[in-house]
Amino acid sequence: MTSHNVNTNGFYGEFGGAYVPEILYKTVEDLRKQYLGIIQSEAFQQEYHALLRDYVGRPSPLYLARRMSERYGCRLYLKREDLNHTGAHKINNAIGQVLLAKKLGKTRIIAETGAGQHGVATATVCALMNLPCRVYMGATDVARQHVNVERMRMLGAEVFPVESGNRTLKDATNEAIRDWCCHPADTFYVIGSTVGPHPYPDMVARLQSVISTEIRQQLREKEGRDYPDYLMACVGGGSNAAGTIYHYLDDERVHIVLGEAGGLGIESGQTAATIHCGTLGIIHGARTLVMQTEDGQITEPYSISAGLDYPGIGPLHAHLARSGRATVMAINDDEALRAAFELTRLEGIIPALESAHALAMLPKMQFRPSDVVVLTVSGRGDKDLDTYLSHQKG
Ligand SMILES: *Cc1c(COP(=O)(O)O)cnc(C)c1O
Repeated sequence: MTSHNVNTNGFYGEFGGAYVPEILYKTVEDLRKQYLGIIQSEAFQQEYHALLRDYVGRPSPLYLARRMSERYGCRLYLKREDLNHTGAHKINNAIGQVLLAKKLGKTRIIAETGAGQHGVATATVCALMNLPCRVYMGATDVARQHVNVERMRMLGAEVFPVESGNRTLKDATNEAIRDWCCHPADTFYVIGSTVGPHPYPDMVARLQSVISTEIRQQLREKEGRDYPDYLMACVGGGSNAAGTIYHYLDDERVHIVLGEAGGLGIESGQTAATIHCGTLGIIHGARTLVMQTEDGQITEPYSISAGLDYPGIGPLHAHLARSGRATVMAINDDEALRAAFELTRLEGIIPALESAHALAMLPKMQFRPSDVVVLTVSGRGDKDLDTYLSHQKG
């Protein structure tokens, strides 16, 4: 049987690895040698799961959405990551990495953020654990995502606006890596998705895998079997999807269906659909699919959803797509908007725009009535209300 998990060199098929500057080699190598031992230790697991339960509010419910099920002709369950503290799945990872940083003796946390969701999650955990936190954010995003900037500052984090390049996520990432290079001994870089150099993609996938651990148990209770026929999730860098599918990667009974951000359409040049439009390259320390020009300049992605607006993709997901294990759809802005309104009106749940990209795949599917479908609602839509209201029709 083939395994879709990471190999010992940090590769998923041809994707992954650790392409870091010489000065970070030792830091990344130390992390690689220690992360599994720490994460799998009894002490870490106890502390991590106690916080997930009492601070985040886990397990998140697995909710049988009756009206949506009727519309799409299946048994549709929603995995409610939107109900977590801070409103999305990102807190699962932030808690795990900051705990790991403490175990490694690190005294300072840095992070990069685009829309600000990962920055808020990291700032939240740093407040909780009394660690100084600096969040790099493109100056354009600082202006666009003002509320999240204020939240991070209230939580005690220093938000550092990045003025280079297009002043968006990739520029913030470059700046965070530069900081890390200057302070490798005392600083831990908390990466917000299944991206970056090995071991980050595997580490983040493991920390998010609490999602599929819960799905297994909740399905056993609700359906009498511990696997679904379909798992569906949106992908930006890939962390909520990785958490959703983690324990089912090698279970061929389970179809994996992922939605990336098509923006205005994959032919339009205004897109963030990296799996559809990207080519092999190196970004953020990993070999993966990248949206780039023919001479390797990273192109600015576009999506209505700030959290999916990333010019790379996690190496796991690049591999799942290329090997045929996962079906990947590009969902355009208008389809995501329609799906968000539909869930709101049928189930009374306002999803994040990112999560709406997963929901928007439902009309493109052909289910049998007995099919059990689990779709992860990665976050709640409060942050997207302005966008929703400006697009409301009729
Ligand atoms: C950040 C974010 C995403 C995209 O990130 P992944 O790593 O692909 O999960 C999706 N949904 C929400 C709500 C987010 O905040």
